[in-house]
This record gives sequence, C-alpha cells and structure tokens, in this order.
Amino acid sequence: MGPTARSSSKLGQDNVKLFTAPHTLGLANQALKNRKSLQEQLNERLSRRLQTTLDLEQQLSLFFQELNSALNIDGIEYRHGTEAIELTLGRRSAHSCSYRLLTEKDFNGEISFSRRQRFNEDELQLIESTLGQLVYPLRNALSYRQAIQLSLTDPLTGAGNRIAMDNALRRELQVCSRSKQPLSLLIMDLDHFKAINDSYGHNAGDHVLKHAVDCARQAIRDVDMLFRFGGEEFVILLGDSGLENSAMVAERIRSQIESMQCHFQGEEIAVTASIGVATYNGNEHINDTLQRADQALYTAKREGRNRISTLCTAS
Ligand code: GH3
Ligand code: MG
Ligand code: MG
Repeated sequence: MGPTARSSSKLGQDNVKLFTAPHTLGLANQALKNRKSLQEQLNERLSRRLQTTLDLEQQLSLFFQELNSALNIDGIEYRHGTEAIELTLGRRSAHSCSYRLLTEKDFNGEISFSRRQRFNEDELQLIESTLGQLVYPLRNALSYRQAIQLSLTDPLTGAGNRIAMDNALRRELQVCSRSKQPLSLLIMDLDHFKAINDSYGHNAGDHVLKHAVDCARQAIRDVDMLFRFGGEEFVILLGDSGLENSAMVAERIRSQIESMQCHFQGEEIAVTASIGVATYNGNEHINDTLQRADQALYTAKREGRNRISTLCTAS
C-alpha cells in the first residue's frame, strides 16, 4: 500500500459496503487473480503515463481516463487550498469518496471521486492503489507549478513581473482579436516615492510598495492582472474593459491608495499614486497602447499628481 492510501481518509462514502460472494472457492481465487492483474495492469499504465507530463491538469486528466476505463467514474474533483487550485473533471454524482494526498513532508491536495453507484470495498481498494501511483508525480507537478509561478512573480510585492506581463499581453491580445472585446492598460506610478525613501528609509519604501499593491488588488476584479513594471511603476491589464470603465477602475485604485492608512514602524506614511489610462485600438502594436498610457500618466503628474488621466487613440 502506498503512502497515499495509508494516510487517506474516506469522506462522504455514504453507502453500506457491498460484497458479492463468489459461488465457489475456485471462482473466488480466479476473481481475485483477475482483479489483481487488472490492478497491476492499471498501475503499470498509470506509472508509465503519469511520468510523461509535469502539467497538473494533464496528469489528472490522464488519471481520470485510466481510472474511468476500470471503474466508470463520473467525475474527479481536485482541490489545493494554499495553491488556490480547484479542478473538476467530468461531473459530480450521488456517491463520492475523498482522500487527502500526503507524502512524508507535504500535503498535495485533496481528491474526490464520484459516480452514480456506490463504491464497494474492492473498488475503494483499487482507487487507493492507483492513488499510490498518482501522488508522487502529482507532488512533482505541484513543485514544477510553484517554480514556474515564482519565476513569474515579483518577490517583493507578489505582483506579476515583466515576463508574466509580456505573456499576459500576448494572451489578452489574442482573446481581444477573437472576441472583439476591448482591452485597456493602466500605468500607475507612486507619487514622490523617492521622498518617501529619503524620509523614512528604503525598508519603509518597500513596505509602501507592498501596501500600494494590496490597495490596487482590493480595487480590481480577480480576472484583472497586476504587474510590477519596474521600480514604483505598475501596469494593470483590464480585459473586456473600454476607456470609460477603465477610467472608473483607475479612479477606484487611486482613491483606495489615498484613503488606506499606511503604517511603518509606528509612523503613518502618506501615499498617493497617479495613473494613466489607455485602450488598445484593435490594430496597433501593444507598445503604442503602453506609450499612450505612459503619456496619460505624464499628464496626471504634470497636473498635480494623485489623479488619473486618460488618452484616446488618435485614429
Ligand atoms: P514622481 O512623483 O514624479 O513619480 O516622483 P518619484 O520620486 O516617485 O519618482 P522617481 O523616479 O524620482 O523615484 C523613484 C524612486 O523609486 C527611486 C528609486 O530609488 C525608488 N525605487 C525603485 N525601486 C525600489 C524598490 O524596490 N524599493 C524601494 N524602497 N525603492 C525603490
Ligand atoms: Mg513615482
Ligand atoms: Mg516612476
């Protein structure tokens, strides 16, 4: 029995376990042998196939396919709270069993299986044995996912970094050209940030950067994307949002930053930001949109800071 099965707990197994006795001992032995070989074959296939990918979704999809061929499962749900992962394959049904996937040091999420018929004891054993094949590849996939995420994140603020921003821009431009939905860009720059560093020290400056990111996050939707562009400048990408709506979002961010108190080592630091807003015109290079947002930011600075400014396309 693998580490998963040992540490698993069955939740929601709401049926009385059924056991159908074979007619003769000979048949019982044969049935046991057949089951063994089915399980062995399944485990061999799983072990081979799960090694072919480090992508978590692909692994779970392979696992679902293989288990389905043996057990007719309606759906699998996988959740990992701290990693914010929730995946559903297939659909939820009346009966379910769940396992917490543990290895020596790590919690690797929780998986549930569901289907219309109850699971019997043999089937639960089969599931537990296959989980033994899943848990280590899954742990590797989680580590890989974490490493990728780390490489795309600004370590100080937790905002996306420039690589993440370039990826997101490419992706959003594709969505935009397919769906014809508007796409807007905000460039936000903290006001007189150098003076904050000079007056309160560099650590206070770092604290202010984190504070500003928290404020901005509170003012945008989950689907909106926030990136550290460099220094004390941030880019916010708003999918399906035109100039007018984006100006409202920018104003909400500005107001949130101005009104949220920022304390560092007992001192209150006044923080404000200026934001430039521009919308992709549908056929320009995205750098042109960025440049327009930057020009709008410059206007906001020139007009006194702690404000937003928009710039329409010339065309
Ligand atoms: P403005 O209102 O015109 O934007 O003025 P500003 O002082 O905010 O702009 P300026 O470009 O003169 O200064 C930006 C400062 O940000 C200078 C740089 O030392 C500081 N900075 C850049 N990155 C970091 C960082 O990671 N941490 C801290 N604490 N400071 C940083
Ligand atoms: Mg600044
Ligand atoms: Mg700046």
